[in-house]
Amino acid sequence: MSLLMSYKLRISACQSLKLSGMVAVVTGGSRGIGFAIAKMLSENGASIVITAKNQKRLEESAILLENTIPVSADVRDSMAVNHVISMAVRKFGKIDILVNNAGIFPKVGRLDKIDENDWNDTINVNLTGPFRFAKAAIPHLQKTHGSIVNISSNAGLKAFEGFNAAAYSASKAGLVMLTKCWALEYSCDGIRVNCICPGAIKTDMTERFLSNPGDVEFMNKQYPLGRIGCPEEIASAVLYLVSEQALWITGSILPIDGGESAK
Ligand code: NAP
Repeated sequence: MSLLMSYKLRISACQSLKLSGMVAVVTGGSRGIGFAIAKMLSENGASIVITAKNQKRLEESAILLENTIPVSADVRDSMAVNHVISMAVRKFGKIDILVNNAGIFPKVGRLDKIDENDWNDTINVNLTGPFRFAKAAIPHLQKTHGSIVNISSNAGLKAFEGFNAAAYSASKAGLVMLTKCWALEYSCDGIRVNCICPGAIKTDMTERFLSNPGDVEFMNKQYPLGRIGCPEEIASAVLYLVSEQALWITGSILPIDGGESAK
């Protein structure tokens, strides 16, 4: 049967966003956007492995989700990353979906105020972390013709005056390019790789910029739709991209930012 014909059958058999029988690994799934993604995927039938550094918080989050296990790991540690993937396969038998969401926002400052450790840590978590997870998951995704969604940022698409977080922007721009490269490298295996670039979302990461109403009001005005976003608005796009509805989408970079990137 041709590849196109087999996809046509899959599409007609399952024109839905339901993920019954699928297994997803969500990095940074203990809180913020990652937790919302894990929740949305689990509510739509997937079995989930959430992973993050802080084991206690991870366990507390997993209890709130259906069919979800926590496996802690620091994305900077290749052995720990491999362990997460092994545990996912041991527990659920396969992996269909990898969401590379874990990330950090570094110390803010212009180049002369940033040292090499700040730079290295940001790249290590935000760019090499997804590399480690994708590398560990690829052999399993090849078996399931699965998909990867990378969570980048609108800061990975353009520079913002006064943002002063160049390492963050560079790490997120790198993730955009990794998405495109991996999409082409693995399309022959039926693996799809896509990327979401969120604008500002209220989470622990943005707490320091959005701690008072004046900050929120200022930030809301930066967005054509008049407000910042919420984690569920990223999660619903992940759900679509990993579902059978998106079988012809790979290498796509999707800004979800209230229209900001259109300016
Ligand atoms: P958050 O609330 O700060 O959560 C970050 C998550 O990543 C936590 O689960 C954290 O786990 C995990 N994490 C951080 N460093 C890790 C490491 N070394 N190893 C393993 N896990 C680690 O952040 P968020 O706002 O939800 O952001 C999620 C993603 O969206 C990030 O990649 C971020 O860059 C991106 N993003 C966010 C916004 C926004 O406005 N919030 C906008 C654009 C893009 P621990 O608690 O265990 O460290």
